[in-house]
Amino acid sequence: MSTYLIKHAHTLVTMDAERREIKDGGLFIRDNVIEQVGVTSDLPDTADEVLDLKRRHVVMPGMVNTHHHFYQTLTRVIPRAQDGELFEWLTTLYPIWANMRADHVYTSAKLCTAEMMLYGCTTASDHLYIFPNDSTLDDEIRGVQEIGMRFHASRGSMSVGESDGGLPPDSVVEPEDVILKDSQRLIEQYHDNSRHSMLRIVVAPCSPFSVSHDLMRESANLARAYDGVHLHTHLAETHPDLEYSMEKFGQTPGEYAESVGWIGHDCWHAHCVHLSLEEIALFGRSGTGVAHCPSSNMRLSSGIPKIKEMMAHDVSVGLGLDGSASNDHNNMRNEARMAMLLARVRDEMNPAAMTGRKALELATIGGAKVLGRDDVGSLAPGMSADFITFNVDRPSFAGALHDVVAAIVFCNSDPVDYSFINGKMVVDQGRLTTVDLMPLVEHHNKLSLGLVDGEV
Ligand SMILES: [Zn+2]
Repeated sequence: MSTYLIKHAHTLVTMDAERREIKDGGLFIRDNVIEQVGVTSDLPDTADEVLDLKRRHVVMPGMVNTHHHFYQTLTRVIPRAQDGELFEWLTTLYPIWANMRADHVYTSAKLCTAEMMLYGCTTASDHLYIFPNDSTLDDEIRGVQEIGMRFHASRGSMSVGESDGGLPPDSVVEPEDVILKDSQRLIEQYHDNSRHSMLRIVVAPCSPFSVSHDLMRESANLARAYDGVHLHTHLAETHPDLEYSMEKFGQTPGEYAESVGWIGHDCWHAHCVHLSLEEIALFGRSGTGVAHCPSSNMRLSSGIPKIKEMMAHDVSVGLGLDGSASNDHNNMRNEARMAMLLARVRDEMNPAAMTGRKALELATIGGAKVLGRDDVGSLAPGMSADFITFNVDRPSFAGALHDVVAAIVFCNSDPVDYSFINGKMVVDQGRLTTVDLMPLVEHHNKLSLGLVDGEV
């Protein structure tokens, strides 16, 4: 057993039930769990290790990313995919992704996780739905485990190729029995449903336009045979997506999801830009979650989701980076900022449509709830020791010391100074402690250039 005392924060943002913000706050941690939270003078005087923040850092829960595609860091800003809408963008990129091998998946997962950590993410879900050549989900899990992120690994899939009326080329789809068998293997090999778990498996067919009804239903049956295995997919992202659903299934995306059993506390859907108010009410009643991905929705010109209406219907909403080829950054702090700004764009003449603090809620406890976790997203006794700090003696906080909490969202999205995941310091004064970054960047760039060579 070892203890860690974090003392003298400028402000400690708890995100607890009362949303307390504690001046001169601190945390007392035993192993990987927070034991006490409060004003520094109320905490134990010392511990095995002590970090004195000298009243110069704001401390908050680590951020939770609910939707991503780590492998796409290999294909950021491909010139032919910079200005297309979703379906054009996908059909440009599928043939490039089809050349990936195990090392591409492993290295991109590590690189992407490193960047996310530097910008405040401590728990992430990734949606990997393409397994060309010798690549498997195990490669991604290995990369993330080595770097130390808390992880929900989604076993994605595509089974309806072009020749069957789907969008992806036939070369990147898999037979449905293979998908289900591998999903089961991964659950049995890796899924840890215990409190403070560092790894859970999610069953995640890519989207209604790339898999069959049967696979959606069978995936739901498989996930529900295990405790805490959740379901995830893309839903109602764009207008063509909506049209495809009406043409192929004669149903809206929400109706389709309900018809295949993809509604409930154990399901969350990425985007949901084009849900009707009825569908939003259904999501609220059923506890179905939404991964809101504002940067990606703007980048692909997909539209603006009705987040205010979702919140009014008690829909669980978290944030998703949805990178890295349709957002191109891995910065959760920036994503919270985008969520706040986009809500204000949608709700013209109502700048209070989303406050800075609400955006931080979505990025922390909102995301935790979407992933089905009650052990991360806030700083309180019994919670996992996942937290980040920002030094306020930076140009980006200058003139903002009267509200350093709102400043996290309103001001520039700088990297963290410290990050702890599961009680372990993973960023120390802005430097990652679990990976040598520059050789990783170099190797990642070599793989990226090899992959897209001749394609750009
Ligand atoms: Zn996505």
